[in-house]
Amino acid sequence: MLYHLSYGPVWLWMVRGMRTAMSDEAIEDREKAQQAEDEAADGPAVPQEGDAGEHSGEGHGHPDKSAKRTEEKPKPSRAEVSNYEIVEHWFKDAAERLELPDDVAAVFRSSYREVQVQIPVRLSDDRIHVFSGYRVQHNGARGPYKGGIRFHPEVDLDEVRALAELMTWKTAIVNIPYGGAKGGVNCDPSKLEPHEVQSIARSFMDKIEKVLGPQRDIPAPDVGTNAQVMAWLMDEYGKLHGHTPACVTGKPIALEGSFGREAATGRGVVQVFTEAASEEDLDPGDVTFVMQGFGNVGAWAARLMQELGARMVGVADADGAVASAGGIDAEKLAEHVRDGGTVGEFDSGADEIDPEDLVALECDVFIPAALGGMLHADNADRMRCRMIVEGANSPTTPRADEILIEKGVRIVPDVLANAGGVIVSYFEWVQNLQHFRWGEDEVNEKLGEIMRRAYRQVTDRAQENGTPMRPAAYELGIERVVEAASTRGYI
Ligand code: NAD
Repeated sequence: MLYHLSYGPVWLWMVRGMRTAMSDEAIEDREKAQQAEDEAADGPAVPQEGDAGEHSGEGHGHPDKSAKRTEEKPKPSRAEVSNYEIVEHWFKDAAERLELPDDVAAVFRSSYREVQVQIPVRLSDDRIHVFSGYRVQHNGARGPYKGGIRFHPEVDLDEVRALAELMTWKTAIVNIPYGGAKGGVNCDPSKLEPHEVQSIARSFMDKIEKVLGPQRDIPAPDVGTNAQVMAWLMDEYGKLHGHTPACVTGKPIALEGSFGREAATGRGVVQVFTEAASEEDLDPGDVTFVMQGFGNVGAWAARLMQELGARMVGVADADGAVASAGGIDAEKLAEHVRDGGTVGEFDSGADEIDPEDLVALECDVFIPAALGGMLHADNADRMRCRMIVEGANSPTTPRADEILIEKGVRIVPDVLANAGGVIVSYFEWVQNLQHFRWGEDEVNEKLGEIMRRAYRQVTDRAQENGTPMRPAAYELGIERVVEAASTRGYI
């Protein structure tokens, strides 16, 4: 049986680039200052899609694009601009408006620490397969590093860097006491046996445990990982350090996980949607929505939208897409997926559509909940929604963002919209440190308070400055991180 991602239930160390950001900066500062001068006239250029697959590697050396073990299969198109370029673009954009000095900005343009490890695992074919594992800690000024671990064939250092930086801004925007980190392994869990995924998870933990810990860096689930993977990671960490539930979050309830964590990201998406709907004169109980991705985030967001009365008129996963103007039952689809099915195999009477056409479905709200770069220069113009609430990380490229804003689409950005997961991870960590458990209603209520407060702060800033929500959110996050870093004397 292959490893199915339901949301229920050394001989060689290769530590590459394990360095502090500070050590490279003196050299890079001069180059960056020159570049900053060049850009000063008209702000950072929007990264062009199609003419550059890789970023310049600025501040990091070249991105690692090591060979992947798994085969590619046809998928809806993603932008050629990388996640790293997307996050860098928004950072530069906000840093300029904040008039952040170049030397200060340079601290945040690279990571504090980047660890790459080799994960050799003997799989069922009796051969040793060598995977690459990464943990990137971007900035820890506001607290211990925090961020998910992704198991996906396309994981590479470049992507993990981008996602780690995104976590720094996200935790600051929602004002929880964490820094930003991310991790990943370039494996494809959908093609692996459960015991193989377990071996990879344990081996990865053995190799990165020295930079983790409840007061240092706390991983959580992300694409391709779930509560079960977190349980294996916690168990492996416990072998070395004694029982330490606060070392990872997103654990199963039976292992000191928090009530409400599994649904938290999807719930947060729906909470900010409800806030945005009232500003757009939309009745949350009477809207149509399209869900791109139907994993943890997508399936929970879809069910909670449906609970409000909203109708899902299109949905996709990595294997296909379906549409139905009459609506697709999110609850039944979630059950079907939990049992190992795919969206395309769901017998709902919906029409199978080309996954490329999902974005063109007419709806009130489009919720990207898959991978980064899926709304890009070549498909943004086809979108026919009033609002985008970003469940996924970096789903919209800067060029697509421009096109959509021009079309009058409201975008509730990832750094705010999908923060529900890290917020309830924070609650789980707090509960674990106290060896105490809160009820689910309490968790959901506290989540709502933080999401609504952050939403209000971001929209207030956007109104003050006359910008869309994303630039306002970045400004807020960057300001808070800079203040913490300078107050503690790091910069
Ligand atoms: P998941 O692995 O549970 O689900 C991912 C879903 O996306 C699956 O349904 C998969 O089939 C689908 N998908 C993959 N490629 C696709 C494609 N090309 N087209 C359409 N669908 C595709 O992952 P998840 O935890 O739900 O995470 C989804 C997104 O949300 C990611 O960007 C992740 O970084 C972000 N996110 C997750 C959390 C969390 O708590 N899990 C928190 C914040 C942000």
